[in-house]
Amino acid sequence: MAKTLYLETFGCQMNVLDSELVLGQLRGQGYVATDDRDTADVVIFNTCSVREHAEQKVWSRLGQLRDRKAADPNFVLGVIGCMAEREGAEIFKRNPHIDILCGPAELDKLPGMVQNAVTTAGGRNVISDRRHVALMGNSVRRSSTLQVARDDLEMLDLSRAVSPGDDLSQAYVRITRGCNKFCTYCVVPHTRGPEVHRPPQNIIDEVRKLVDAGAKEVTLLGQTINHYAFDHSDGRRTTFADLLYAVHEATPDLPRLRFVTSFPRDFSDEALDAMRDCERICRYLHAPAQHGNNRLLKLMNRGYSIEQYREFVDRARERMPDIAIVSDFIVGFPTETDEEFEQCCDIVRYAKFKQSFIFKYSPRPGTVAIDRFEDDIPEDVKRARNNRLLAVQGEVIAENNAALVGQTIEVMVEGESKLVSRRAKATGVELGAGFGGTARSSGPEETVDTQLVGRTRGDQIVVFDGDLSLKGGLVNVAIDRASQMTLFGRRVAEAAVV
Ligand code: SF4
Repeated sequence: MAKTLYLETFGCQMNVLDSELVLGQLRGQGYVATDDRDTADVVIFNTCSVREHAEQKVWSRLGQLRDRKAADPNFVLGVIGCMAEREGAEIFKRNPHIDILCGPAELDKLPGMVQNAVTTAGGRNVISDRRHVALMGNSVRRSSTLQVARDDLEMLDLSRAVSPGDDLSQAYVRITRGCNKFCTYCVVPHTRGPEVHRPPQNIIDEVRKLVDAGAKEVTLLGQTINHYAFDHSDGRRTTFADLLYAVHEATPDLPRLRFVTSFPRDFSDEALDAMRDCERICRYLHAPAQHGNNRLLKLMNRGYSIEQYREFVDRARERMPDIAIVSDFIVGFPTETDEEFEQCCDIVRYAKFKQSFIFKYSPRPGTVAIDRFEDDIPEDVKRARNNRLLAVQGEVIAENNAALVGQTIEVMVEGESKLVSRRAKATGVELGAGFGGTARSSGPEETVDTQLVGRTRGDQIVVFDGDLSLKGGLVNVAIDRASQMTLFGRRVAEAAVV
């Protein structure tokens, strides 16, 4: 009988993609994915170290499985991803029942490790005999080792298999791995290692493979994706802009191409031109500002000033007035004053962000900030700043969404809107077509579960009536009204303007 695998993923899209690749590899070994953690032959957690909360969840899951391992020594338990890399042997100390530990830069080794763990599990009493560890060790490898790791990881990406029934509504393709930026609050350069850029033809082939298998939207992934540059052996260089044009041209049957995450510094005019010129590249930029004050940006080691960030927003909007820009913010970073925090609100208003992911600073082990700065902003101040920035962002979203009322927008249909209906009902807030800043309670019509939900090119959620057979297709929707989370409209034949 086929062995079963439970694979749970925490963190960013990069981890989601890693899990997909791992799943593909283990399927090749005969494993079948299951949602039932309690009966799975192999349980693997793909972990994230960016937020403490995600790590706590993993510690808790590992504790819950201690009894199971004691009762069934043949059961194999693994931890992969950033937490495995950052915590290393500490995970074994706290959880001696774990069999496998594998960092993100060694995932190509995981199938062999699982095979070895299955073979040796249960038959040994000497715990060290059944431990299988592959960590990057130190993110700064000797260059020859780094090259081997690059090649092995490239093989992992290239090994991607698409199986019938796979959900390809959100397909990811990695174009770079790792990061060289060393922002002081971030653990990624220490867990994923230095930046490595994949050969362009391999990226194009992978996107092509996904489109042939039915993908309607592909998102290119990289930690600082716009810094992509591949140097060919003959001296040519493929820039990020070149890559965008090449992928767009090679996949005329792909309705939507996206990319995340952009680094605000050095975003070239050529790459912005490519976004403007290629009609199927979504006008969506996730380019985290992180802060609005230059002193704080310097403490964070972001490498740009807020003036440079504004200039980047200006260049993007000059070319694409309808572009949706999304940011991340850290509030309550050490030594941040009220006045400095206020500048975060200023940049939200200036850039008219479509959305901001706002986090209260918390010192993370393995980062520069935890050693260099005292976490001196009280929790209640952090919370107040977090709420204030959320409120400012909410006002901006309301204005952005109200401006879309009356427009006809291209929407990719994702399916039934049950979740969105529930969310609209839960928030109880709705903005009418003539929105002027007041809110009123949502009406009963939002609870109708047969409505469809889709996304605009700018990633706004749109709810409208339609037939489920439209799922996966593009339709034009005239927007009648908007809430903070959602646009509501009706299907129309006329051409979309956004
Ligand atoms: S750019 Fe900064 S925040 Fe982003 S992954 Fe690299 S170090 Fe972390």
